[in-house]
Amino acid sequence: MTNGRNEGRAVLVLGGAGYIGSHMVASLVDAGWVPVVLDNLATGHRDLLHPGVAFVEGDFGDRRMVVALLKKHRVQAVMHFAASSLVGESVQYPLVYYRNNVSKTIELLDAMREAGVRNLIFSSTAAVYGQPESVPITEAHSLHPTSPYGSTKAVIERLLTEVEAAHGLRHMSLRYFNAAGAHPDRPIGERHDPETHLIPSLMQVALGQRPGAEVFGLDWPTPDGSCVRDYVHVCDLASAHLLALEALLAGAPSAIYNVGTGVGCSVLEVIDSVRRVTGLPVPFVPAARRPGDPAVLVADADRIGRALGWRPELSDLDTIVETAWAWHRRG
Ligand code: UDP
Repeated sequence: MTNGRNEGRAVLVLGGAGYIGSHMVASLVDAGWVPVVLDNLATGHRDLLHPGVAFVEGDFGDRRMVVALLKKHRVQAVMHFAASSLVGESVQYPLVYYRNNVSKTIELLDAMREAGVRNLIFSSTAAVYGQPESVPITEAHSLHPTSPYGSTKAVIERLLTEVEAAHGLRHMSLRYFNAAGAHPDRPIGERHDPETHLIPSLMQVALGQRPGAEVFGLDWPTPDGSCVRDYVHVCDLASAHLLALEALLAGAPSAIYNVGTGVGCSVLEVIDSVRRVTGLPVPFVPAARRPGDPAVLVADADRIGRALGWRPELSDLDTIVETAWAWHRRG
């Protein structure tokens, strides 16, 4: 329960037992906010929960439960990290993605309306852009998602604008590029089962848990033929959310921001960095392109820098890989 000096500092974190959500909870605690975590543990992990932070195991699509939670803790803002988020899986199971991401978010927005909570920080994605027409990608770039995952996020962004016009619910949508790395001082990091993401997969190769990595396409129209992505450290991502939260609560208008560094790294450059940091060979084999993958995704992140003063601090590639390696080595 939020009371006393914590009055007015409660933030509901949906998906707070997940990779990005758990880093957000740590940042909120460090900044003096009082996070309350709601997570159904479908892809979250109990051991990523922050000690001493209120945790409710449940589903954010459960409208009545969410209304009660918002009222009980006098929540000021909701941060929404709870989503199905794999491009490839979404191509296979579009209905699951629309149900988990869109249908449940409709229930959430209705719960916020009913409880009178008017501030939302929404996890969006660079996948809303699809195959970019120009890079770096600004927020004004057209939205042509190439996967159901990207489509669900684009639909919600649109819905948020319409719900604001009708019900006054204000929001910041942060379009993440590639979240990566692990907390430098806390025992939290990236773990999925099965693991499909590039950097944790390379960590498993370095640890001898898989024989080699696969590079999904070496025939892309990029300098070395492998896909180029904009990797942003998960703690920098969390600091972007914190700034967005503070701005929104101070009365800033709703907005959409890219969160990336403006620097692209190829899959082969990431493999080189893992070899450099670990001192291990990290073998790989070329594999087929992955459906839904664009060749290059690099952010123009000027808008969030100008509007919120956000600057990435841990997002150079070797720092990302060093922090990921430290987390994966502890087992
Ligand atoms: N990738 C790869 N091999 C892997 C996993 C990923 O070559 O085992 C590539 C993938 O095609 C993409 C980049 O690495 O270009 C990042 O993929 P990831 O799944 O980590 O993140 P996404 O871009 O899907 O959010």
